[in-house]
Amino acid sequence: MPGANWAGNVRYAARRRHRPSSLDELRRLVAGSDRVRAVGTGHSFNRLGDTAGDLVSLAGMPATVALDPDRRTVTVPAAMRYGDLAARLHERGYALANLASLPHISVGGAVATGTHGSGETVGNLATSVAGLELVTADGDLLTVDRAADGDTFAGMVVALGALGVVTRLTLDVVPAYDLCQYVRLGLPPEALDAGFASAYSVSVFTDFRGPRLREVWLKQRADAAPPPADWLGTTAADAPRHPVPGMPAEHCTPQLGVPGPWHERLPHFRLGFTPSSGDELQSEYHVPRGAGAAVLAALAPVAHLIAPVLQVCELRAVAADGLWLSPNHGRDSLAVHFTWIADPAAVLPVVTAVEERLAPFAPRPHWGKVFGLAPAAVAAAWPRYADFLDLVRRLDPAGTFRTDLLDRYLPRD
Ligand SMILES: Cc1cc2nc3c(=O)[nH]c(=O)nc-3n(C[C@H](O)[C@H](O)[C@H](O)COP(=O)(O)OP(=O)(O)OC[C@H]3O[C@@H](n4cnc5c(N)ncnc54)[C@H](O)[C@@H]3O)c2cc1C
Repeated sequence: MPGANWAGNVRYAARRRHRPSSLDELRRLVAGSDRVRAVGTGHSFNRLGDTAGDLVSLAGMPATVALDPDRRTVTVPAAMRYGDLAARLHERGYALANLASLPHISVGGAVATGTHGSGETVGNLATSVAGLELVTADGDLLTVDRAADGDTFAGMVVALGALGVVTRLTLDVVPAYDLCQYVRLGLPPEALDAGFASAYSVSVFTDFRGPRLREVWLKQRADAAPPPADWLGTTAADAPRHPVPGMPAEHCTPQLGVPGPWHERLPHFRLGFTPSSGDELQSEYHVPRGAGAAVLAALAPVAHLIAPVLQVCELRAVAADGLWLSPNHGRDSLAVHFTWIADPAAVLPVVTAVEERLAPFAPRPHWGKVFGLAPAAVAAAWPRYADFLDLVRRLDPAGTFRTDLLDRYLPRD
């Protein structure tokens, strides 16, 4: 297990690191520890996954994948990477509704933070979860199911690792499908909403350096007509692109309208290649879906601060859901993402400036990225926040799964 997160900005402070190879070993470990955190693939950018106690990777646990064609679900180990799961599902003729920009992340880690892709009609990755199995603080194994556990289940999916160590997840699957990816250049900002409505999954990239939004990545069903030559006033990219200027397009999934399977088009980045730039920090805020034009206008006065520390900004759409701590709880969302340069001293003041400008939109931060919002603002942005705190008190009364970051944002009293 590496001693730091993927970005290298968080060095894990754990006294002990573990890689159990069986459920019993994990249960004994959790029951015998006063402070435990699970770690996935370490792609988060803050200290959410850190602990001063025992840090546990589940990568050595059995990698059994159980497809249930009748229920249209698949049950997977929490440590499995989406890229590995997707290839196995596709072989059997099945797919997931959506994926994040990278297939390198673990299912358990991504679901815990409400990780998302893009698509006006598609929820974040946690909305595919139909069931969970977790080891709670006393070492017991708790199984919860969407149908049987209703509202409580909705509180337990995006749980930030605060309720226990998730060992297995059951996900909804759909029949496999093919997509084509097109990149268009120079979207007028007033066409943002029309752009999001144009394809199954749409990402808009901008750099705050010009009047137009630099690129639109359209991921559309392979049987849909390609965008017309004058689509929303844009031009077609004539060669494959990487969202981060200067990075090789070879790291990215095929573009130029070449049809291919869902898992080789939905992520921007290919498994086996460095995702994004590899030398970066990230922040992201979810705001109401219709606020795109207003958000761009609100950020314009600080564009001169953003641009020098920005590698790229990505705008995505995510459908509303009912999961208590999901960034998309109860509202269709616009996700406003920033890939920053890897210089915390230069970036953090700009993060503060961005958060001040976004305050009127009740921004909900991505739980796994860099943010500095005041705890009261974070709590006020989620209607079920108090209910989640009650759930934490009930399932983890002694604070076994606490971290400094959770103590700041989920105070115990
Ligand atoms: C290059 C890059 C691109 C990204 N693109 C996207 C994107 O497109 N969309 C998006 O939303 N995010 C994106 N992210 C953020 C990333 O998806 C999230 O931070 C995600 O949580 C990382 O998953 P992980 O497996 O690395 O989890 P980790 O970072 O290892 O852990 C995240 C949290 O989950 C908890 N956790 C992990 N495993 C378990 C478990 N088994 N049981 C209980 N808790 C657990 C940890 O304790 C921690 O709190 C990106 C990150 C990078 C580096």
